[in-house]
Amino acid sequence: MIWKSAEYNGWGRVLKARGELARPERQSALAALPPAAAIGNCRSYGDACLNADGKAIQMTRLDRILGFDEATGVLHVEAGITVGEIARIYAPRGWLPAVMPGTGFATVGGCIANDVHGKNHHHAGSFGQHVQDITLLQNGKSRKVTPDKTPDLFRATLGGLGQTGTIVSARLKLLQCKGDLMTVTERRAENLDEFLALFDSSQATYSVGWIDATASGNALGRGILEEGETGYGMVPPAKRSRSVPFDAPGFALSPPVVRIFNQAYFRRIPERGRTQVKPINDFFFPLDKIHDWNRLYGKRGFHQFQCVVPVDATGSLREMLEKIAHSGLASPLAVLKRMGPGRAGYMSFPMEGYTLAVDFPNRGQSASLIARLEEMAAAAGGRIYLAKDALALAKRLKAMYPEQPKFAAAAAKADPEGQLATDLIRRLKLRSQK
Ligand SMILES: Cc1cc2nc3c(=O)[nH]c(=O)nc-3n(C[C@H](O)[C@H](O)[C@H](O)COP(=O)(O)OP(=O)(O)OC[C@H]3O[C@@H](n4cnc5c(N)ncnc54)[C@H](O)[C@@H]3O)c2cc1C
Repeated sequence: MIWKSAEYNGWGRVLKARGELARPERQSALAALPPAAAIGNCRSYGDACLNADGKAIQMTRLDRILGFDEATGVLHVEAGITVGEIARIYAPRGWLPAVMPGTGFATVGGCIANDVHGKNHHHAGSFGQHVQDITLLQNGKSRKVTPDKTPDLFRATLGGLGQTGTIVSARLKLLQCKGDLMTVTERRAENLDEFLALFDSSQATYSVGWIDATASGNALGRGILEEGETGYGMVPPAKRSRSVPFDAPGFALSPPVVRIFNQAYFRRIPERGRTQVKPINDFFFPLDKIHDWNRLYGKRGFHQFQCVVPVDATGSLREMLEKIAHSGLASPLAVLKRMGPGRAGYMSFPMEGYTLAVDFPNRGQSASLIARLEEMAAAAGGRIYLAKDALALAKRLKAMYPEQPKFAAAAAKADPEGQLATDLIRRLKLRSQK
């Protein structure tokens, strides 16, 4: 197997790594490699998918479908296949991955290693709760991991950031769906209280909120709730995908431009709301249509802050939104979601509550604002999402993830020499057992 020297980056384009990359095409070629950090499509924003000055194995060519049981909906796949590809093939047959993150480019290995959540987390829980078994490669040896027979290793692998071995393949229980169309209802929420009330009373299978992170005063926390149900019928013509051909100039996301954009975006939904039928990708993966949209933030890239706070911490959520609105740093990409309690691993992000995700261009005061928001999330009993993080400090992380010692112990057993560590693991000292 050839190792190639390459520079690669997290999705936010702030953190980069130069190192050796291998891209095996067969499981036999993978097994012959020395242990090294495995990465997927690098859709994590920070350094979860980076190993600077070291080796990393990119799993995207190991993307075969190994079997599907139509009676049970159990799909056996190699870890490099993307959730978007699974949805493309199986939605017309009435099945979808039970949990899909906001990009279809995430691989199954990446979804397991971050125990990702989707727009149905309040009903369906996290990705790992639908994983029946995983084949892990540990020091060249293959090992089957299941929730019943190897519960400690399973819980350390789900959300385990690749530290218990290379995920080679997995069996996923798919969810039945009505077809590859979505009926989507959009409703305006005029402020945060109204938004949270809409979430709490929503009966929809899928729900997600766009939030105007520049709004303040009486409009603080206003946004649009999208509720979706799968369906079938005439497929509306798919819109052409576009790409961002160059790094955008700094003024593209200046505060006045973002405020005007957000106003218009909010008002495009009539006060009485509206219902539309869309291809499923437009609902689940709205940003995937614009290739390289991360270039909109210019050469310096961007950060995403994502936290979850418990249901009774809405006061903290309000304070965070006030801080963000007054900073003038927010971009239009900001999301509010209701989460249920479902999580599959020691280091899984979800908890019952509300999750807020906001993108900030990497400039001026962004890092100090995000540090303050992290403190506020921690003080509220919440946590931040490691898949999105590039800035957090180790000392704050351990309180947010109380099961980290169990994770560190299992990772030490699986990889005693720390050959699977990534930049994020080192920065946040997540393998430390102290
Ligand atoms: C537009 C956008 C929207 C998103 N929306 C959501 C969302 O709604 N919900 C959510 O939860 N996340 C979301 N994410 C984050 C994304 O789902 C996760 O970062 C996911 O892990 C990315 O998958 P990947 O294949 O790119 O993995 P990478 O980013 O390449 O790697 C992620 C982690 O997985 C490990 N890993 C990858 N493959 C393997 C393997 N085969 N074996 C062992 N370890 C492996 C890596 O070491 C790393 O720690 C979003 C990201 C983007 C860009």
